[in-house]
Amino acid sequence: MLKKDSMKEYLPNCRIQELANFSKSGVHVDMLRLDLLHPVVSGNKWFKLRYYLEEARATGKTRIATFGGAYSNHIVAAAFAAKEAGLHSTGYIRGDQTTNPSPTLLQAMELGMKMAFVTREAYQDKEKIIETSHSPETYWIQEGGYGETGAKGAATILDIPNIDAYTHILCATGTGTMMAGLVKAAKAGQEIIGVSVLKNHLSLETEVRALLNVAENEKTFSFIHGYHFGGYAKHPQTLIGFMQAFWERWQIPTDIVYTSKLVFAVTDLIQKNHFSPESRLLIIHSGGLQGNRSLPPNTFAF
Ligand SMILES: *Cc1c(COP(=O)(O)O)cnc(C)c1O
Repeated sequence: MLKKDSMKEYLPNCRIQELANFSKSGVHVDMLRLDLLHPVVSGNKWFKLRYYLEEARATGKTRIATFGGAYSNHIVAAAFAAKEAGLHSTGYIRGDQTTNPSPTLLQAMELGMKMAFVTREAYQDKEKIIETSHSPETYWIQEGGYGETGAKGAATILDIPNIDAYTHILCATGTGTMMAGLVKAAKAGQEIIGVSVLKNHLSLETEVRALLNVAENEKTFSFIHGYHFGGYAKHPQTLIGFMQAFWERWQIPTDIVYTSKLVFAVTDLIQKNHFSPESRLLIIHSGGLQGNRSLPPNTFAF
């Protein structure tokens, strides 16, 4: 039996939280807590997936297949959302199968996802994987949900009241799909800022622009590259300490891959007077704490 879009029920869990007196500068800072959406599909991943799942069902597919690493937020979210939608799922996982799968992969398997482990080398050529593994009932979703359909779903992140009260909306970027969605939904005069979590991701702007139409490409958005802390998922002690302190002050959990680097960047940019004092910032807490499961347990109080 195919279910309706039952994830929608969880939307009211997302809310805006004011981070009062975030800094001495007077800049107003709020956070959109997408991490509260749902304990498993926490954050932006469901928004990116929603129309892919809809399309899969509308075209009579019975299975989705997608790609990710051992601590991928996308993999768990895809497994859960597929199950909710009444679809089977397969995950093509980067790296050889180990006797000890990560907690993330175990959770996805428990949700019914079939795992196919791919060597790091073979993983580079996803077109070939699709070519050799395709079956008529399978609907393929790119790694991280990259694509126009993903961006269209991400645009619905800003379907909340009073969004025009913000001068700047800030997010972490991996593939840039969420950012493209935010640009699509941005109001006139609003700037979308993407904080890249990858080192030397110089193609990011091109990849975001590819998901936007001509008019959307004229909107105001910018990229910040200096806050990757050494590269994807790299987490020096300064970052761990920052996450700890952020939790102690606000009781908001962040993750080592995305949101900690975003919040660190915002803090630093405010300190460096990047924003005028009348600015009103909305930080997107995109959820997804899977990366923290790669650390020893009890690293954080959350
Ligand atoms: C996947 C993810 C992102 C990056 O989203 P993109 O659309 O790939 O740029 C940001 N934050 C979190 C928590 C994520 O899981």
